[in-house]
This record gives sequence, C-alpha cells and structure tokens, in this order.
Amino acid sequence: MLALAALGASAQAVEPVEIQPGIWMVQGVSALGSPANRNFISNAAFVVTPEGVLVIDALGSPVLARELVAAIGRITPRPIRHLVVTHYHADHIYGLQVFKDLGVGIIAHQQGLVYLHSEAAALRLEASRNELAPWIDAQTRLVPADQWVSQNTRLTLGGVEFLLQAAGPAHTPEDLVVLLPHKGVLFAGDLVFRGRVPFVGQADSGRWIEALDHLLTYEVRTIVPGHGPASTSAVTDLRLTRDYLQHLRQTMGEAARKLEPFEEAYAKADWSRYAHLPLFKVANRINAYNTYLLMEQSHP
Ligand SMILES: [Zn+2]
Repeated sequence: MLALAALGASAQAVEPVEIQPGIWMVQGVSALGSPANRNFISNAAFVVTPEGVLVIDALGSPVLARELVAAIGRITPRPIRHLVVTHYHADHIYGLQVFKDLGVGIIAHQQGLVYLHSEAAALRLEASRNELAPWIDAQTRLVPADQWVSQNTRLTLGGVEFLLQAAGPAHTPEDLVVLLPHKGVLFAGDLVFRGRVPFVGQADSGRWIEALDHLLTYEVRTIVPGHGPASTSAVTDLRLTRDYLQHLRQTMGEAARKLEPFEEAYAKADWSRYAHLPLFKVANRINAYNTYLLMEQSHP
C-alpha cells in the first residue's frame, strides 16, 4: 500500500467544483491515461437533490471512483441513487464497480451491451491491466447497467427533472447525454468538444450532427463535457462541433463522389475556420480521412 500511495502522491486529486447550486463536476487532466495520472483523464459530474444524488460517469479507475464517492459524502449525507453512463469508453467506466458495490442503480443506453460483450472490450481491459497497473488490475471488471434505455427517458429525483437523451450512434453507438432542462445544463459526454477539434474516429457523423441539432433546440447555457472545463458558451460549442462535422462531410463527401483522391481533396479543402483550434494538427487529417472513407461507403 505504501508503494501505491507513493505512486499516486503527485497525481491530480478528485476535487468537485460546484458549477451551479447543487451541480458539481470533477475534471480529469488533459493527457493520455497513465499510471501517474491513475487514468484520471475524463470528467464526472453529480447533482444533489433532496432525495439523493445522481452521478454522471464513473471515471477511469476504481480508486478515482472511491475518491469521488468520498468527496460526495463530504458534500451531502444523502445517498447516491443513480449513475448514468454517457458511453462505454474505458476512461468513463472503469470506476463503475465501486458504485455497483454500493447498490447504486446504473443506467446506460442498451447499445452499451454490444460493446460489453465485444472482444474489443475484453482486449482493452486486458491491455489496461498492463498499461494502467496498479490502478487497473485483475479485480477491475466491466459492469453492465441495471437499467438499459433505448430511447429518450425522463427521470425525476427529489423534484429535479433529468432528460436522458439517446444521442447515438454519434461519438459511440451508446451515447446518452443528460439534460437538466430547468437549469439549462447539459452533461454531454464526448458529444461536444469545447474550443478544440474533436476526435471523430469511426463515429457516425451524420447521426452526430442530428443529435447536436436536436440539443440546440433546448436552451442549454452550460455544458459539462466528458473532457475539459465546463462551458458557459454552450450554443457556440454545440455549433462549432456541428459545423466542423458538417464541413468534413461536405468537403470529403464531394471528393468521394467525384472519385478525387484523398490527398488532393485534403490539400484543396479550406480549413481556415478550424486551423487555429487546439489539436487541429493532431486530429484534423485523420478526421478528414475517416470521413472520406465513410462518405465513400455511403456513395458507392
Ligand atoms: Zn472520453
């Protein structure tokens, strides 16, 4: 235990920040997961209501989840009732078992089941046990939800209304975002990237755009994203993510239709609106390439 303590000594602590009365977030570091940061690279949030607490996402290792539970306990004596999983990516779910063992009801989109039963999930956990030891170990397990939802769902706790919006397939097939309509707060998972170029990966960008358009119909003022600081320029961030995805689909879609080689299309596209954004150099080219492939498949 002494070695463990020493290893975690310089790591970022799980310290909740209140963004509105009763609404809190903890913010992970902007880095890849490592033993030094205990895989604290994503955010979690929680809402304290008169009847208990609802938590959004479980953080990237059991030790972090235990610290989150302890921190919540210092803020309120009320029990944690629900935990909503925004998506089943490792850095958002490896803390789930801590909540499960406390009897917290875990809610996720049912597409998460597909991931849980996939070889990719098993391989990822195996790799994490090596790469993130000792924080991810043989005791770390994948935890299914107690309640799987497949469509938009309304949940009320202590008089506070939560809208669970099934937003996938967008960033992942199982995207589930949480909206507090009366507070104008959106817990967006990895659906909204703040002031930076998103990682599009294999995402279904068409459906992602639809989901963002739908979220833009609500009066969202504050976004708690899956990574990075909370945003009070919610509409700007929603639009930036949407416009970027649209631009990718438009430029790469046109190239794919014309059978223009990717390199040429990439060189010719106008990236000036996005080139100044953080992570542009790292992410834009691969985003464009993935979109090119996607558009090629949808326009054979
Ligand atoms: Zn994430």
